[in-house]
Amino acid sequence: MLKEKLLKIAKDFLAIPTAPFREHQIRAYIKDFCEKRNCTTNTDKYGNLSVFYKDNSAPQLSFVVHMDHPGFIASEQTIENTCSAYFYGVWSPEEFSAAPILFFPDHLPPVHATATKWEKDFKARAWKATLTTSGIINKGDIGMWDFPPFKIGTKFLHSRNCDDSIGCILLLMLIDHCNQNNICTPFSVLFTCAEEAGLYGTKFICQQKSINYENVIISIETSKELPIAKIHDGVIIRVGDAHSIFTPSVTDTIITVAKSLKANNPEFSFQRKLMDGGVCEASIFSQFDYKTGALSIPLGNYHNRNFEKRTTEAEYVSIKDCIDGFRLISAIIENQSLFFIAEKASKPRYKVIKGELGQVFLDK
Ligand SMILES: [Zn+2]
Repeated sequence: MLKEKLLKIAKDFLAIPTAPFREHQIRAYIKDFCEKRNCTTNTDKYGNLSVFYKDNSAPQLSFVVHMDHPGFIASEQTIENTCSAYFYGVWSPEEFSAAPILFFPDHLPPVHATATKWEKDFKARAWKATLTTSGIINKGDIGMWDFPPFKIGTKFLHSRNCDDSIGCILLLMLIDHCNQNNICTPFSVLFTCAEEAGLYGTKFICQQKSINYENVIISIETSKELPIAKIHDGVIIRVGDAHSIFTPSVTDTIITVAKSLKANNPEFSFQRKLMDGGVCEASIFSQFDYKTGALSIPLGNYHNRNFEKRTTEAEYVSIKDCIDGFRLISAIIENQSLFFIAEKASKPRYKVIKGELGQVFLDK
């Protein structure tokens, strides 16, 4: 049942083209999906979309996910089957052989392209690729690595864009689930822009102080599979990333929720790990003194990079890890009040207990 729901949303969602600074199609899909499920939405000047499930006045959980994926923006129109494009996101032509590219001109069939030359463009803060194209690409069009958007195996979901579409999909599942089951707990979701180019959407939100400082921020991301954090071993409670350690009391509360979920459902798996293969948006919120936590789904071919073969390939995630992720996010919402009680009670109080040989024990 959960698997069918996940795959149904994923099939539609993953077909939508996106790139850093070009998230408008994904944003329109999310806005429509959420408004049909009784949410209110707001788009800020940067293009970040906030979705509010129920009332948004009291301190609450705010999940953060990003709508972009490493990809291309055409920097000029095709002339005689040639044009150029900026590439944004952590990937380098010096380390990985490029794959074919697909561009998505508005209202027209996609156009195939191949990169023939790469150079750094410091002003645009991007790699600039010279392209040979099979048709007309216009300035500003979105390009993505040309892999199927949605391919299912027995265990894995393969896509040109798992990072962070999987995070977005899990939160759309949550909104659908809460609306269908008349769950009253308010929460919000921040769908951000240009994360892959430099976490710019989140920086804008934090700078604008548009989120209540009392809110607890939880980042939901795919994250590079590590030897200590394997794909298919369960959703990860991410204690930190390459930059920060998140708020310990928030992490502890997520672990308490995960343990009770596991006690009632032996099929559910989770891992508690430091995922330092990259930086997530919780780090920016931490720098602005928000209380933060994070979940991640282990990701294969992180940023379309096969690190062994040095090739550019589709990303993949375990379907079971995604389902575990959804289960944990729903349980977090069911137990939202624990996050705010936990904050008040974060300093332990010890009772002194004396043993008969003069031992002094300090127990909670
Ligand atoms: Zn990423």
